[in-house]
Amino acid sequence: MAAMATATASLSSAKPRSPFFDHHSSTFHGLSLHSHVAAAGRSPRHQGLSVSASSKYDLEAFRFEPIKESIVSREMTRRYMTDMITHADTDVVIVGAGSAGLSCAYELSKDPGVRVAIVEQSVSPGGGAWLGGQLFSAMVVRKPAHRFLDELGVEYDDAGAEASYVVIRHAALFTSTILSKVLARPNVKLFNAVAAEDLIVREGRVAGVVTNWALVSLNHDTQSCMDPNVMEARVVVSSCGHDGPFGATGVKRLRSIGLVDNIPGMKALDMNAAEDAIVRLTREVVPGMIVTGMEVAEIEGSARMGPTFGAMMISGQKAAHLALKALGRPNALDGSLGSLHPEMMLASAESSDVADA
Ligand SMILES: Cc1cc2nc3c(=O)[nH]c(=O)nc-3n(C[C@H](O)[C@H](O)[C@H](O)COP(=O)(O)OP(=O)(O)OC[C@H]3O[C@@H](n4cnc5c(N)ncnc54)[C@H](O)[C@@H]3O)c2cc1C
Repeated sequence: MAAMATATASLSSAKPRSPFFDHHSSTFHGLSLHSHVAAAGRSPRHQGLSVSASSKYDLEAFRFEPIKESIVSREMTRRYMTDMITHADTDVVIVGAGSAGLSCAYELSKDPGVRVAIVEQSVSPGGGAWLGGQLFSAMVVRKPAHRFLDELGVEYDDAGAEASYVVIRHAALFTSTILSKVLARPNVKLFNAVAAEDLIVREGRVAGVVTNWALVSLNHDTQSCMDPNVMEARVVVSSCGHDGPFGATGVKRLRSIGLVDNIPGMKALDMNAAEDAIVRLTREVVPGMIVTGMEVAEIEGSARMGPTFGAMMISGQKAAHLALKALGRPNALDGSLGSLHPEMMLASAESSDVADA
C-alpha cells in the first residue's frame, strides 16, 4: 500500500520487528526516511515517518534494504516449525477455512487462553465464500446475522429496519475482512495447503487430526508410503463444507470408521428452513468433534440454502462456544457470558467479556 507523498505525510513501514530493521534509515520513493519501526498492527499515522512536500515519485532510485537469502529461508522455516511444534498438541483444530470455519476461529480467538489451529487443504482459504450464487459478486445475509458483520466492520446495504436481509457488495469483502482479523490474532495459526487426511480416535473420542501437505494427499495414488503427520486437539471442529472432492471429509470419515451410521446428504433447497436448521443442528456429533457449516446439512440431511451465508457465520459462532464449553472456558451457551440469547449476542460479545468472565 504505497502512500503517495504529497505534503508532509506519515508513511507506512511494513518491515518486520527485528533487530536488523529497528531504528534505521531507509529510502522511500527515492527519499531518505528516518524510521522508528512501529509495533505490528499500528496504523501508518502512528509510525513517525515523514516526507517533504517536494518529494518525487522516483522508482529509478528505489532500493530495498539488502538481505541475505539464507535469512529469508531461516525466518520462514523457524516460524513454521515453531508453529508446528506449538500446535502438535493444541486446544482446537478447525478443519476447513470456509465461512463457517473462519467464523468459528474468529469467535474462539477472542479467548486468549485458547490455542487454535486451522487446517485448510486449499492454498487459498475462504472456501466457497469468495462469491455469491452463480458466481455473482453480492453476498446476501439474512438478519439478525448482520450483527456479526457490524462487529467485523463489514459494510453492507440495508433497506431499513423492515428489511429481512442485508447485502454485501462483494462476498470477497466479507471473506477478506474476517480472514485478516483471524490471521492477526496471536492465538490462531492457519496451516493452508494442509489437508486433514484422517482423525485421531481414542476410545470412541476424536482426539485430533492426521495431516499432510494437500498436494501429497492428492498423490497417494501415484506414490507410496507418504506418511502423514498429526495434531492432537482437545476439540476438533469440522467445517469441511458440503460434499465434493474435498467436501464433508470429516463426517465421511466418521461414517467409514463406524462412529456414525449414516450421512443422508443435504436435501433440496429451502432457504428459510435450511439456515435455521444449520444453526440449530450445529453440535458435537461424536465426543470430541463438533460439526459446523454446510457439513451439518450433510450429516443431518437438512435442506441446502443456496447463496445466503448468515447461517455459516452463526453456526461457526455456535461451534466456537460449544468448543469453549467443552474446554471448560467461559462461553455463551451455559450462561457464563450473560443472559442474552446466544444467536443474538454472540456477535456482539466483547472480547473482554470472554477474557474476564
Ligand atoms: C458448487 C457449489 C455449490 C454450492 N451449493 C451450496 C448450497 O447448496 N448451499 C449453500 O448454502 N451454499 C452453497 N454453496 C455456497 C458456499 O460454498 C457455501 O454456502 C459456504 O461456502 C459453505 O461454507 P462452509 O464454511 O460450510 O464450507 P466451505 O466454504 O465449502 O469451506 C470448507 C473448506 O474446508 C476445506 N476442506 C474440506 N475438507 C478438508 C480437509 N480434509 N482438510 C482440510 N481442508 C478441508 C475446503 O477446502 C474449504 O475451504 C455452493 C458453492 C459451490 C461452489
